[in-house]
Amino acid sequence: MHNKTPMHLATRCVHAGELDDAQGSPHTPLYTTTTFKFASTEAILDVVEGRAAGSLYTRYGLNPTIQSLEAKLASLEGAEAAFAFCSGMAAETALFLAHGREGVVCIGDAYGGTLEMLAEQLPLLGIDTHLILGSELDRLDKLLAGGARLVFLETPTNPALEVFDLAAIAEKAHAHGALLAVDNTFASPVNQQPLALGADFAVHSATKYLGGHSDLTAGALMGSQELLAPIFGWRKNLGSMPAPETCNLLARSLRTLVVRVRQQNASAQAVAEAMALHPRVQRVLYPGLPDFPGHELAAKQMSDFGGMLTIEVDADTEGTAAVVDRLKLFAIAPSLGGAESLVTQPVTTTHHGLSETERERRGISGAMVRLSVGLEDAEDLIADLEQALSVASG
Ligand code: PLP
Repeated sequence: MHNKTPMHLATRCVHAGELDDAQGSPHTPLYTTTTFKFASTEAILDVVEGRAAGSLYTRYGLNPTIQSLEAKLASLEGAEAAFAFCSGMAAETALFLAHGREGVVCIGDAYGGTLEMLAEQLPLLGIDTHLILGSELDRLDKLLAGGARLVFLETPTNPALEVFDLAAIAEKAHAHGALLAVDNTFASPVNQQPLALGADFAVHSATKYLGGHSDLTAGALMGSQELLAPIFGWRKNLGSMPAPETCNLLARSLRTLVVRVRQQNASAQAVAEAMALHPRVQRVLYPGLPDFPGHELAAKQMSDFGGMLTIEVDADTEGTAAVVDRLKLFAIAPSLGGAESLVTQPVTTTHHGLSETERERRGISGAMVRLSVGLEDAEDLIADLEQALSVASG
């Protein structure tokens, strides 16, 4: 992979970062090794003191399986570098500790664990955090002028699929000397490239689309060498390194990322269009529908609209739960991005911890049903939703 012209994404998913193996393996072997031996004291000092690259100790990330995965992860987001983590939350925590100590502004809805970390845990360490809604973007300038140095957001958001203008927000952050980090989990690098739009970091729960099979927990953070450098020590001493076995499995999954996500995009679009015509569905929140408020912006900054959508049915919280309970193909589970389609009612899972007032402020209703469209045939998924909706609301 030393060509001057970067290869296209699916090619990079297969080839980027793979090591040349002496035994002829076409992809990087799994080194479960925790520590690596050296021919001499001089040789180990060269690695310890940074004069030579090399494998040293797995918790530091200096392990060929981990570093090979990281080269692939970096390539997928068009980044200079990437770090792998043992979870998406571990990646976010290291990011906040390394770059958010002067204050973090979170825009819009975010994953519940992220909101808890920002609203309740970082303030315990004396870190100022500010959670603003998409409708309160006019507060951003003031918060940045007040010293916050890291802006964090998801787009599209969970569960309302709100779309934020990455180029405009990056410009605003940079004008104040702040950095922009984008949780690109929902979109995946196949549909959205935050760094190309001006963001400084892309962060992922690799547990979702990157892993793609609901069988591994991992995180990833991509950015420039310079901005990732201070994160190395936090990850090392927080001990938030993924196991080499997980890295090997994640690299295996990434080779099929593009084909998986393209299929999920197409099926989600078909499901969204079918649900938009259903008499029991009051709203379909999906950026791929032309009348969705974020459609135009999504069409500008995303190459496709993703595998996640939310429908709002004509029932109260209990009636909506009854629809969810009748689904047969969609499994009731809080995660996303796997081969199996999943369904969740946000008020029972991701947004369960929020007060009624806070849910209202964020536009989260009991009638919302979030769908993670998997790799089954779209016709079967639509038929499953239709049978679940076929019982009249009570
Ligand atoms: N970001 C998003 C958008 C998520 O949905 C999640 C988990 O659901 C996370 C981050 C946290 O990731 P993990 O569960 O891998 O720690």
